[in-house]
Amino acid sequence: MQTLQMEQAQEKLQTIFGYEHFRQGQQAIIEQVLAGHDTLGIMPTGGGKSLCYQIPALLLPGVTVVITPLISLMKDQVDALQEYGVGATFLNSTLTAAEEQKRHAQIKAGAYKLVYVAPERLEHPHFQQLLQAVSLSLVAIDEAHCMSQWGHDFRPSYLRIPEWLEQLNDQPTVLALTATATKQVRADLQQYLHIREQSTVTMGFARPNLRFEVKKGVNKKEFIRSYLTMRKQESGIIYATTRKEVDQLFEELSAAGFEVARYHGGMREEERSDSQEAFIYDKKKVIVATNAFGMGIDKSNVRFVLHYSLPRSLEAYYQEAGRAGRDGEESDCILLFAAQDIRTHTFLIEQSDRIDERQAMEYKKLQQMTSYCHTERCLQHYILDYFGDEDGESCGKCSNCVDSGEKIDRTREAQIIFSCVKRLRERFGKTIVAQVLVGSENQKIKQFGLADVSTYGLMKEWTQRAVADMIDVLTAEGYLQPTDSSFPTLQLTEKAVPVLTGEAKVLLSETTIPEAVEEQDDIF
Ligand code: ADP
Repeated sequence: MQTLQMEQAQEKLQTIFGYEHFRQGQQAIIEQVLAGHDTLGIMPTGGGKSLCYQIPALLLPGVTVVITPLISLMKDQVDALQEYGVGATFLNSTLTAAEEQKRHAQIKAGAYKLVYVAPERLEHPHFQQLLQAVSLSLVAIDEAHCMSQWGHDFRPSYLRIPEWLEQLNDQPTVLALTATATKQVRADLQQYLHIREQSTVTMGFARPNLRFEVKKGVNKKEFIRSYLTMRKQESGIIYATTRKEVDQLFEELSAAGFEVARYHGGMREEERSDSQEAFIYDKKKVIVATNAFGMGIDKSNVRFVLHYSLPRSLEAYYQEAGRAGRDGEESDCILLFAAQDIRTHTFLIEQSDRIDERQAMEYKKLQQMTSYCHTERCLQHYILDYFGDEDGESCGKCSNCVDSGEKIDRTREAQIIFSCVKRLRERFGKTIVAQVLVGSENQKIKQFGLADVSTYGLMKEWTQRAVADMIDVLTAEGYLQPTDSSFPTLQLTEKAVPVLTGEAKVLLSETTIPEAVEEQDDIF
């Protein structure tokens, strides 16, 4: 029986979607679902989660309800299915009452195999009435990690799904899908949805065509500009943390003659969908965006994903970076690390009115994200380990794997910087420390009497920017620590002590060392 169903599934894959073979994981998930087992499918972004419910939806007798978090993407998903000739529709708040009624009638008449809804819709009285009148075969929960407080995108409306499922007349099969595989999220989903361990299908998380790189201590804007210049014909995403960063980068890149689009939650809906389209249809090769962009975006030829600032967790990072190379071609995932990004996140965590336990968890995730930037291990391996995918081997191409291992001795510069921090009694931040070291004649320096400090002018052959970059590198390497306050001051950590006493050296790989370059303008 099951074999026959799988034969039919295979046939739909070829005749409707035009693909020859199921991908790893898809087959197992579809088999489970067709056998009526509630299933949890864990697959990396781009792994092909949609087909895991779309194909069963075509083979099962009743309707499949797809719960998905983003209203803005439902139309695209439904349009794509309609192009394949699959009866699909969506119900959400963008529809007029008349349109909604019309769709309800069509659903009752059996016109659609798939109905996409946002989780809020489930409790809608009209929707509940509709469900009395149709037979439900499958409920697919897309982005199911939104149900777990441990996920990176928790949404309270997702938490009500289990209750909603319980009060249904039908007993549809449930398929939860996510790209987040940490043990806690997995355990939560299994528990909330009563899914057995043997019905949990995990597809390998390795993305061998992605090349990971962490860049520390570079002038980020300079880097992006030269990277884009080299890759003019290629499509890519640049992620930044805040809307303000996105706006600034967008404006500066546009002014410098780059054809870029922009996307963040503060833009009008129409503007956002225009930007999204321009990017998807290659009218604009590059998009600068916050993490509001990308969920559900299916663009196969994204050749690079650059992170202008640090994401808040490795889950978020891997999901965003994973939007590169969906077509299997070699692609870059580059994270530009600067220690001050940690402070932005620390600030955002502090500002959130979340309970202490949740804040503590977010700090931990941030710490793990930061460790990714400091690790000397294979980056691909580090990520896979984090997701509990153990068979990862060194990738041989990430920035750590190709690091020649040659280190440059920067002990002397580090000693000078550390003693300056100490002389200033750890009461000043990066800018003042750098100004003292280059011997700045700035008013503030005079006012505080800092020109008399013994380290004043000891790095006068350096630019202030280069010293500040070096301080960032030393912070990233754990020698210095900025305090968690709105005016962070620099402190030495225990790791800096043996360097000051001459018992330890500071060896930095060539790529992490900022050059003592000419002062650069921040604007291109
Ligand atoms: P996810 O939701 O897991 O991020 P999607 O379902 O959007 O991924 O699929 C990602 C891409 O992979 C899409 O372009 C899709 O058409 C393609 N794809 C999915 N399954 C297959 C398959 N079996 N063979 C070839 N391409 C596939």
